Amino acid sequence: MLKSVDYENFEGERVLLRVDFNVPLNSRQEITDDLRIMESLPTINQIIHDGGIPIILSHLGRPKGKWVNKLSLETVAKYLEQKFGYNVVFSPDCLGKAPFDAIEKAKPGDIVLLENLRFYNYETSNDLEFAKILSQYGDSYVNDAFGTVHRYHSSIYELPKLFERRFGGKSLMWELEYLGNAMNNVVHPYTGIIGGAKISDKINVIKKLIEVCDTILIGGGMMFTFYKALGLEIGRSIFEAEKVEMAKELIDLAKQRNCNLMLPVDIVVADHFANDANYKDVDVENIPSDWLGMDIGKQTREQFKKIIMDSRTIVWNGPMGVFEMENFSKGTLAVATSLANVTAKGAMTIIGGGDSGAAIKKMHLMNKVTHVTPGGGAWLTYMEGEILPGIEALDYK
Ligand code: AMP
Repeated sequence: MLKSVDYENFEGERVLLRVDFNVPLNSRQEITDDLRIMESLPTINQIIHDGGIPIILSHLGRPKGKWVNKLSLETVAKYLEQKFGYNVVFSPDCLGKAPFDAIEKAKPGDIVLLENLRFYNYETSNDLEFAKILSQYGDSYVNDAFGTVHRYHSSIYELPKLFERRFGGKSLMWELEYLGNAMNNVVHPYTGIIGGAKISDKINVIKKLIEVCDTILIGGGMMFTFYKALGLEIGRSIFEAEKVEMAKELIDLAKQRNCNLMLPVDIVVADHFANDANYKDVDVENIPSDWLGMDIGKQTREQFKKIIMDSRTIVWNGPMGVFEMENFSKGTLAVATSLANVTAKGAMTIIGGGDSGAAIKKMHLMNKVTHVTPGGGAWLTYMEGEILPGIEALDYK
């Protein structure tokens, strides 16, 4: 069993705590959603309560090894002070003298937050020397960054292995418990709902779901690669030419495994890619050659709703259409609403991924579904049954 912070005491220790403070920012560099920060507060509080000092490591955005001022974690340091009242000692670099100075300055009850790890390429290249330097800042290591555990990154994979005392943080343990429960206690009918722009990111998870689900509902941009595989006209809709063969294989695999792989029967098409475009519902056989598919249609929404309402376990990843544009968000919102309704009937509903989670949040349904996991990529990797490097690198009893 993975060792959790729950059974540990950190009195007198400096605890290197890897969190996921990769929060969304607006153009004024304000944090627009603090869910990821909130998730790590219980672990931070335990360390402080035990009498230890959390030395927090995180990434923010994708600076790709460059110093990008608007991706400085100082924004989060200020937020932690102003919104939650912590005393934060911010280290403006994660290498050099700055971290040592910050740690020296911190008193029990304080938090040390180091600058964005991804300002150095060493983080994403899983550099061992980088990990060795970071390891000097702490006596023990805790990972509470579920959204990043599928990455072979230095602070996720190499760093923990340098510590004897290395544990899963509270939110990471909750994620694993929820996802494990969902997968080990599946009640049928079991439905997987997969959407999003591209099929290429989700082939392995679709394969896995075909093995275990009774029904898979496909939506989003990826449906057009399936339609291509079936020889349909898709107009100017997005699709992946090099994945058409794979889409055929998935359709065949589903047939062999007796899994009902359902594609939309009608879609919303638009004359150009914008919210104010002209749009209409068409059957999939009648996609006009100069229009493009933006969402699942009304009949499909009804069909999907019925399948969802008859299911007992449902997992969902990826929007059904271009949900950022209001006119093309109906499919995604319909799925979100049905999931809330079926949860009220006792079904287990697990939503993975930023966009599906955002749709649930937008509709104020966060508390009406069983669980929304914050890490889309980590969730997909978990569902595929693949190793999560950040979990593998922790300690077991
Ligand atoms: P993913 O990150 O792969 O889950 O994809 C999410 C993105 O897919 C969202 O930004 C959607 O706008 C986009 N998307 C969904 N349906 C379509 C579509 N029919 N055409 C283009 N993009 C789409």
